[in-house]
Amino acid sequence: MAVIGGGISGLAAAWAAHEELAARTGEADVVLLEGEPTVGGKARTRRLDEWTLETGPTGFLDAEPLMDELAARAGLEKVRASGAARRRFLVRRGVARQVRTHPLAFALSRVLSPAGLLRLAAEPWVPPRRDDDDESVWDFAARRLGSEAAERLVAPMVSGVSAGDARALSLPAAFPRMRELEREHGSLLRAARALGRTGSARGGPGGPAAPLCSFPGGMEALPAGLARRAPFRLRTGAPVASIAAAGPGSWRLAIAGEAEPLRAEAVVLAADAPSSAALLAGPLPAAALDLAAIPCPGVAVVGLGYGAEAARRIPPGFGGLIGRGDGPRSLGYALDSHLFADRGPRGGLLVRVLLGGATDPQAASLPPEALAETAHADLARLFALDAPPLLREVVRWPAAIPQYELGHRERAARIEKALASTRSPAGGLFLAGNALDGIAFARAAVRGWNAGRDAARSLAPATPG
Ligand SMILES: Cc1cc2nc3c(=O)[nH]c(=O)nc-3n(C[C@H](O)[C@H](O)[C@H](O)COP(=O)(O)OP(=O)(O)OC[C@H]3O[C@@H](n4cnc5c(N)ncnc54)[C@H](O)[C@@H]3O)c2cc1C
Repeated sequence: MAVIGGGISGLAAAWAAHEELAARTGEADVVLLEGEPTVGGKARTRRLDEWTLETGPTGFLDAEPLMDELAARAGLEKVRASGAARRRFLVRRGVARQVRTHPLAFALSRVLSPAGLLRLAAEPWVPPRRDDDDESVWDFAARRLGSEAAERLVAPMVSGVSAGDARALSLPAAFPRMRELEREHGSLLRAARALGRTGSARGGPGGPAAPLCSFPGGMEALPAGLARRAPFRLRTGAPVASIAAAGPGSWRLAIAGEAEPLRAEAVVLAADAPSSAALLAGPLPAAALDLAAIPCPGVAVVGLGYGAEAARRIPPGFGGLIGRGDGPRSLGYALDSHLFADRGPRGGLLVRVLLGGATDPQAASLPPEALAETAHADLARLFALDAPPLLREVVRWPAAIPQYELGHRERAARIEKALASTRSPAGGLFLAGNALDGIAFARAAVRGWNAGRDAARSLAPATPG
């Protein structure tokens, strides 16, 4: 069988498929095809003198047991972000204000006006919605928390976390936990109190309950370690140009620049959403159109390394979210060297600024120098920085993070149904990656693992008894 794409999802799929086939049949023939010269996909770590810059994910939320299992296979142990990760900021009217969970401290932070605070406090009396209809994140937040909280708190959170637009994203698709909490507790504030009491690790309105983690040396260590120890065949520099059905239970994969296609009975697509859509165009054109219709706007990551003066002026913590229309073009900033001390030299501060996304898609294709200038100017204005950065590094992802917009659940169901129609006891097509049910790194790993395992089971059903 074949796996297309060597990001975390494809690597997890290939490991799962290999282990499942080996356990069921005693032998496994799995090949992973990655188009680039190295594996990792979005998880790439650049070492630049004394700075270590994550060009994709800063870390992952440690809520999936699979991450420990993958780390063990890669010979790694995760590292937790420092306690600074708990201090989060929201930029409003040119000031970075710490977001506090204690009600009085929150009120004093002046993120919301007195009227906005009163409306927020009335949330427990807003009747919960019981149907399962679609609703935008903004509509949900305005209905429960009031429109000021939706605009000032929730919209920046959505653009900072998923580079998304709260008015376009579907709450049940993008943040299903919020719908569950509304249903279970009748109120988000009651849910936050209950989760605070039980110490639930499933996350909630008070923020992510799972700790942020990475690996020694950065996020790329995980895909690199999984590739180094891979028990399956791994081919890098092998971009798949097309997939075509080649008779019952057989698929023909054309690899760019190679005359001879590769044949496989089961294929796991673990490329980014637009690339997987292009590959499905031959065998499943309607599903390919559905997958291609999931917006995947570009994002630029600007790494800025500062000296001691800036390190003193920027308040320590995770970083800050920036509301749209508040002045800065940047979506937010993360203080990577506060989170993981090995990301910058002693006394220095590595800041990662994000630009682009659904609300400003053109930004991601600006020239790198303009992006670095914008990011630094935004920080310089916010924190009165005088000195220029010692490091400027820009990475542009033309298709960064899939957006689960209104109607996503129906679209995802149609894609799943079309994929299921290709399956028989002799294999079929399977979709991994982060296009359908979770945009985060650990979710892409879980989806990949499950897709690889299911693909292997389709080839080697368990023998009864
Ligand atoms: C800027 C940014 C910041 C992020 N921050 C976070 C974060 O802090 N925390 C978090 O949890 N998540 C974060 N994410 C999301 C996270 O990076 C992704 O969920 C995850 O990396 C997706 O992994 P994947 O394997 O599904 O896809 P990818 O990492 O995109 O890998 C897909 C692979 O497929 C290959 N490929 C594509 N087409 C072909 C083809 N035709 N043939 C062969 N190979 C092909 C690509 O080269 C690539 O290696 C961030 C994403 C971005 C872009």
